[in-house]
Amino acid sequence: MFLPNSFIDALADYESARYVIFGVPFDNTSSYRAGSRWAPDAMRRASANFESYNPTFDIDLVDLPIYDAGNLETSAFVDETLQNLYEATKDLLNDGKLPIMLGGEHSLTFAMVKACAEFAGEDFGVLVLDAHFDLREEYRGFKHNHACVSRNILSEVTKNLVSIGIRSGPEEEWVFARENNLKYYTADDVESTGMVEILKEALEWLDCSQIYLSLDMDAIDPSYAPGLGTPEPFGLSARDVRTAIRTLAPFSMAFDVVEIAPEYDSGQTSMLGAKLMREFIASHAKSCRKA
Ligand code: MN
Ligand code: MN
Repeated sequence: MFLPNSFIDALADYESARYVIFGVPFDNTSSYRAGSRWAPDAMRRASANFESYNPTFDIDLVDLPIYDAGNLETSAFVDETLQNLYEATKDLLNDGKLPIMLGGEHSLTFAMVKACAEFAGEDFGVLVLDAHFDLREEYRGFKHNHACVSRNILSEVTKNLVSIGIRSGPEEEWVFARENNLKYYTADDVESTGMVEILKEALEWLDCSQIYLSLDMDAIDPSYAPGLGTPEPFGLSARDVRTAIRTLAPFSMAFDVVEIAPEYDSGQTSMLGAKLMREFIASHAKSCRKA
């Protein structure tokens, strides 16, 4: 028997699926270490290790309507790739799906956020977990560089954005964040205040019921997640990020995991990314059952 290269426990067909996982193997604007194009398939391979039953939420992933759509066709050009992703996301939302994107680099998030904002209307916000502000206006000649994604969201889609895990950026980005009253929490804020309290504040600030949740894996400390394009020490613990994903999933209309570069580790970052994605689905599905 042939097994498709698919996330394990993604057993539904497209028609019946609520959760549609897909990869976007694109890393052409990566500035330091490229290689996130290999992450979707690495995460699929890593997923084979996990039990389908989630004891925290008392839910079995084989019982959930999950479909793996495979990888989106990408172009060498970032704008064309973003356009394809934007259209694919619109189709998924119109079909009543919850899109889950496996990057690929963080620039991809912009296309999905734009599609989600248009679909959601006013009742919408964005929560980014990241070591970096990603507030550059352009980088290395690209407006849609991965180092610019939050800036592009703020200027073109919505100001209703919170970042958690920040600890790196040029001085201009810190000044820009302060002058524009951006809502952000550093990794040190999480350490001193606690993730639970920060999530409570962030949700109150966003004040909406439809969130786009983006996990740039470099939010997590490189000791847990070394396989990254731009690793940055003194990051969030894997456990705190799991708390964030579990807490935010019930409010989320779409989710992505980006910036894993699997060639730089022994598989642990893809494994962690795959696990967090499964926690997202389990937590979201559990909240729907309760409702
Ligand atoms: Mn980023
Ligand atoms: Mn980052």
